[in-house]
Amino acid sequence: MQVEIYDTLSRQRKPLEPADNTVRIYHCGMTVQARPHVGHLRGYIVMDAFRRFLRFKGYDVTLVQNITDIDDKVIEKSRAEGIDWRMLAERNTKELLDVTSALNVEPPTVMPRATQHIEEIVDLVSRIVDRGHAYEVSGDVYFDVRSYPKYGKLSGKNIDDLMEGVRKDLADNKRDPLDFALWKAAKEGEPYWFSPWGKGRPGWHIECSAMSTLYLGSGFDIHAGGEDLVFPHHENEIAQYEAGTGKPFAKAWMHVEMLNLQGEKMSKSTGHVVTARDVLDLYDPNVLRLFTLRVHYRAQTEYTMEGIQEARSAWERIENFLEAARSALPDQSVASSYPEFEQALADDLNTPKALGLVFDLVREGNEALAAGNTGILTDVSARLNLALGILGFKPSDKRGSSEELDKVLAIVADFRAELRSAKAFDWADKLRENLQKSGLIIEDTKEGTRIRFK
Ligand SMILES: [Zn+2]
Repeated sequence: MQVEIYDTLSRQRKPLEPADNTVRIYHCGMTVQARPHVGHLRGYIVMDAFRRFLRFKGYDVTLVQNITDIDDKVIEKSRAEGIDWRMLAERNTKELLDVTSALNVEPPTVMPRATQHIEEIVDLVSRIVDRGHAYEVSGDVYFDVRSYPKYGKLSGKNIDDLMEGVRKDLADNKRDPLDFALWKAAKEGEPYWFSPWGKGRPGWHIECSAMSTLYLGSGFDIHAGGEDLVFPHHENEIAQYEAGTGKPFAKAWMHVEMLNLQGEKMSKSTGHVVTARDVLDLYDPNVLRLFTLRVHYRAQTEYTMEGIQEARSAWERIENFLEAARSALPDQSVASSYPEFEQALADDLNTPKALGLVFDLVREGNEALAAGNTGILTDVSARLNLALGILGFKPSDKRGSSEELDKVLAIVADFRAELRSAKAFDWADKLRENLQKSGLIIEDTKEGTRIRFK
């Protein structure tokens, strides 16, 4: 089974062909001027599922996910909030780590920060200048776009078309409006590092060219990021690296489409966002993972209440089945393969199709439960456990897995049954209400009262 992904650069599907057993991936992480929103999480969840799948297929995966902890927006925002830019970056980075960890997104192999790699960045800028593809004007260094004829190859834009969209007045010191900054001279009161061009800081694009190749080498397998980064960020990353070194940059480009809010891209700068915390305060992290993976990563989608509620009911269907299956079949196993499911993911990470198979299993499993068919239930549960693991779901262990908790819930259930038999209905109802407020459900069945988590 050949794993294929759609490559933005060649505009076609490409088989994954790493030079050895390791797949090397660079994924543009967040600029930490603000708190992470659900739009950011889409990319993290998609890459997490992809990485788990590759590992399941026997590859080692080196995943580098950077943190942009210094740029114009970080400086502006820290001034607006009246705090040091380092504190702002640290606070938002910590929140990103907290929410991704809550979402069961595995930490990347390396999470480099721009400010930790100034030396490598300065070195790459120097090489670009030496090879005649960049120039310095009073402490700023610009990439000379017209010196690199392949500029536009990723986004499919050509230089003349781009010129039409550009303001003709040269606000900066650039020779050409299309040129972009590799290094910015520090203005009064701004953070700075020393460089051959004086005190300053890196431009945004250069850090990713420097850090990706530092950890992964040139010609690494996949460069990933949000669709909104194709131009100019990724276009510039390629130009800088290839012009500066003469070596190939990334073999394939994988872009995750936007998660919109009311038809518009979520944006930290306009405040048009739903923060990651807002969602995780209300919903099980598995619900957000399901909400994300139910749409193919190359399709735009909307964040809506209906969408997230649907994902919640869908996740409940899975958990209810798992709970029932666990009581019917305490010895659960994990299948070693599930070819149809693997084929779906090998096919440009078709997670909607893979999830369709998951729900087929839940349906078959429920039928097997009703019919008391242990053979089918065993097989279905094993495949379901495998599939959920590969997609990175983590069914809650608050059900069935904690014996102490089960004992306490049984005591509460018995107590409520006694209240009812003593005709103390007011007290029994009050107990039910309080349990419900804490997210517990009471079911009065023929076999007795059962209490479970919603
Ligand atoms: Zn980047």
